[in-house]
Amino acid sequence: MTGKKKPLSARAARREAERAAVKLARDRERLASLEPGGAPSLPIEITSASEVEIAARGKPCARCGGEVRVEEHLAETVGTSRLRVARVFCPACGARRAIYFRLGAGLPN
Ligand SMILES: [Zn+2]
Repeated sequence: MTGKKKPLSARAARREAERAAVKLARDRERLASLEPGGAPSLPIEITSASEVEIAARGKPCARCGGEVRVEEHLAETVGTSRLRVARVFCPACGARRAIYFRLGAGLPN
């Protein structure tokens, strides 16, 4: 018997780092929901529906900053706004979120 013990501090430090990373990811996601496109009340203005997927792909994952994939592109009406919603998925961390757009000029009233 050597009596050698692994110090607990390494594990504790790792757990601490993991907790900090989770908190950071949560903060990032919360921030993203306050950015343009992060909520139905904060849509990104676009002029053509064809811009939705390009713009959605151009936004990095809110959680890890990775490249996202557009899984769905939906048309939704919220109140009086006709919105386009891009549902994106991050293959790197598995995060999903919706990005909201509003079709501006060019729509007949
Ligand atoms: Zn991600």
